[in-house]
Amino acid sequence: MKNYLRNYFGLRRNRSLPEGFRAGIGWLALALLLAPSMPSIMSAQSPDQARPRALRFEAASVEAARKWQDQSREKLFALMMGGQKPAALPLAPEVVKTETAPGGSVIEELTLQSLPDRRLRAWLALPADRSRKLPAVLALHGHGGTGSMVVKGESLYWYGPRLVEMGYAVISPNIGSHNLQHTNWTLMGERTWDALRCLDYLATRPEIDARRLAVCGLSLGGETTMYVAALDERVKAVCSSGWLTTIGNMKQGHCPCWNFPGLEQNLDFADIFCCIAPRPLVCEIGELERAPGGFPVPIARQAFSEIQPAYRVWKAESGLALDIHAGGHVFVGRQFWPALKNTLDQVK
Ligand SMILES: [Zn+2]
Repeated sequence: MKNYLRNYFGLRRNRSLPEGFRAGIGWLALALLLAPSMPSIMSAQSPDQARPRALRFEAASVEAARKWQDQSREKLFALMMGGQKPAALPLAPEVVKTETAPGGSVIEELTLQSLPDRRLRAWLALPADRSRKLPAVLALHGHGGTGSMVVKGESLYWYGPRLVEMGYAVISPNIGSHNLQHTNWTLMGERTWDALRCLDYLATRPEIDARRLAVCGLSLGGETTMYVAALDERVKAVCSSGWLTTIGNMKQGHCPCWNFPGLEQNLDFADIFCCIAPRPLVCEIGELERAPGGFPVPIARQAFSEIQPAYRVWKAESGLALDIHAGGHVFVGRQFWPALKNTLDQVK
């Protein structure tokens, strides 16, 4: 948006152009400025919709959609994680600290082997009632957060303790580093792989029912949620909060840690969300989210309209929701809580 404005006013200041030509360019720039925010008036495609993407979702049958998902997952692993899906090493868990709350819930701080030269730090919270095998949620934080803040409900991350109250085990790794460890990887690749290793760990814990796993997160956590759920079908229910957007919008001033070579040539975020179909998915966006480089509702609606075709292929549209709430950049949960319970309760 800022670029449009700069171009528009830059051209207006160029007095060497004939008056009529300048006016024409000015109106063209104004039309470009308004087009993204006026989809109902302007029928032309937005820059994101028009941009060629080698792996854009276009499948019309379940068989074709599954094949496309396999190709897209392979491409994402290759682009994000050094050329291919990494080997899952023994986790070698080490519990650093255990805290028991007065009500009987437990928080363990632990480290896990993520890659041969990388250990991740995560927090696992277990509810007081562990008489039956527990469903579990990988719950992820945003910029400036930590896994500890999620399980303790600090800052914006009230959803960690809320999930524990509802009877879920919650695991939350630190995914906020902006220091890339492996030069042939990407930041989102290292974050997502650490998160996927937490799912591996949940599957080893005797208290947890590894068939009943879900993922949710806010902001960077909503973004990582998208990648985790797209890449790992063990996750049965998904809530990506404060994230549904387009690559074009993310270029308007947001921290660039989302970007990596090859992403936009192959996929937009809506395509990555299409890898989650037909599993239940809630995307939350607040009316008070702010552009540019933020997560405005019209951009979210545009991206959502490109996820719907994947759910239509499976006739699973009832499992896909865009929850637009009155707040800002916050997690809400109102549509996700019932979707989470219904989905995990039905797992046989
Ligand atoms: Zn960042």
